[in-house]
Amino acid sequence: DRHPEPQVAPDPSKKTLVILGTGWGSVSLLKKLDTENYNVIVISPRNYFLFTPLLPSCTTGLIEHRSIMEPIRTILRSKKASVKYYEAEASAIDPDRKVVRVFDNSDVRGAVVETEVPYDMLVIGVGAENATFGIPGVRENSCFLKEIGDAQLIRKRIMDCVETAAFKDQSPEEVDRLLHMVVVGGGPTGVEFAGELQDFFEEDIKKLIPEISDRFRVTLIEALPNVLPSFSKQLIEYTESTFKEEKIDIRTKTMVKKVTDKAVEAEITGPDGKKEKLVFPYGLLVWATGNAVRPVVKDLMTRIPAQKDSRRGLAVNEYLVVQGTRDIWAVGDCAVAGYAPTAQVAGQEGNFLARLFNNMAKTEALEEKIRELSGSLNLKPGNAAEISRQIEDHERQLRRIKDVKPFHYSHQGSLAYIGSEKAVADVSWFNGNFATGGSLTFLFWRSAYLSMCFSTRNRLLVINDWMKSKLFGRDVSRE
Ligand code: FAD
Ligand code: NAD
Repeated sequence: DRHPEPQVAPDPSKKTLVILGTGWGSVSLLKKLDTENYNVIVISPRNYFLFTPLLPSCTTGLIEHRSIMEPIRTILRSKKASVKYYEAEASAIDPDRKVVRVFDNSDVRGAVVETEVPYDMLVIGVGAENATFGIPGVRENSCFLKEIGDAQLIRKRIMDCVETAAFKDQSPEEVDRLLHMVVVGGGPTGVEFAGELQDFFEEDIKKLIPEISDRFRVTLIEALPNVLPSFSKQLIEYTESTFKEEKIDIRTKTMVKKVTDKAVEAEITGPDGKKEKLVFPYGLLVWATGNAVRPVVKDLMTRIPAQKDSRRGLAVNEYLVVQGTRDIWAVGDCAVAGYAPTAQVAGQEGNFLARLFNNMAKTEALEEKIRELSGSLNLKPGNAAEISRQIEDHERQLRRIKDVKPFHYSHQGSLAYIGSEKAVADVSWFNGNFATGGSLTFLFWRSAYLSMCFSTRNRLLVINDWMKSKLFGRDVSRE
């Protein structure tokens, strides 16, 4: 139900709830939050929600990027009470003064670029940065795969490499380098991207530019002894054997140490423990070695003594309250609650906070009502019995509501696409685990992610993209 005339001025009788970020954690909270109870302000440099599970498919144009984006303004329009949105980045949080410092980092700037936003309650859902571990050359030479802009850049680079390799008089060594696509990090991001890339090559590039087809190579480099460390052993083996069939070269126990503009330098540990140096010349390098803490989160951690020993983000308690604070909560990849940094966890945490905040508002309203009724007891002695009954009734409701259980994560399973229309899935089944891989799992993967898309509009766009690519191939124009 849409409200054409939303209330604009903040209501002084309500608390101000500031939410940072428009990702999985924050948007799940917003979806279920009863916004009538608070003056809600959302602050994020990204004015849309991004459905990350299908982001690897955008790198090859299988899915168009706008199909997995949902504007935050559209999301907010369907809320009962108006919510303010500022397109800005939080640069610092002062828990003593209860203000967030924000700045406008967009291309178009007005007279005010930086300001402060006060809060009564704050939710931090700013996600994480790409980890580079300070390895020289990574930031300058790699593509990452976290945001829409990253996927667009990769899509452009793939075609740049292909067309440059097909350029007249290119030397065979240079063709080999340009058509060598190196992916660093064998977690789900690296694996899914490598699979999508090989598909793109097999299904489209090979047909369109046959003269270079036997030179295209994808190499996946992983420091640990196997890829997909969080999946079950049987699925790791299945993924590795499928990659072999797809001719994706997996280099495990290989740690990247340095990156230059044309080559990756790595160290491999042999079975005898001996280390050997390897050089991989590349045309495209995609860096997917996981998460690092964002500067705004790091800064807040230094201001709170209780966060001194936390390394991977804001340590939170079982109600997702940031340890050492009273009115700050954290969700998703920036929070350390003992779970993996996944959309599934962030989404459930956001839902939990919505329930908690809706409850807190109801509790306050009931307490206020009980105070009012108790006050009227003396004023209307004739109605004492009825008023007492009402008080009891309200107190009973209050006891029921107040008893909020701590956050409990319910793992639904892990899914990953591995190329050539195959996927792997570790699904939680009653109290056990059920591991499966192959073409049927691929159909399950597609239907699961389709059903999880943010809106019907997104779902239709994604189906349309899949059909379009199947019928006409991916669009290889370089924008
Ligand atoms: P995000 O979704 O990253 O959102 C963070 C938000 O904060 C963004 O809106 C950002 O713009 C904003 N922000 C950043 N800095 C600031 C700032 N200073 N101030 C204010 N706002 C800020 N997980 C799964 O469970 N299943 C999958 O299939 C899956 N696939 C993935 C595929 C890829 C390619 C990637 C990269 C991740 C995938 N994940 C998947 C992981 C999942 O996307 C993350 O765990 C999830 O996005 C975390 O949610 P979040 O809300 O913490 O952060
Ligand atoms: P990750 O942390 O899961 O994996 C990164 C990998 O990079 C690790 O295996 C690590 O050993 C390797 N690595 C680190 N430094 C290296 C180096 N110098 N040289 C070689 N290898 C190195 O990261 P991710 O894949 O980006 O995933 C991040 C989070 O998002 C995870 O929690 C993941 O589960 C989630 N995610 C889930 C899905 C899915 O469910 N399909 C998809 C993408 C991401």
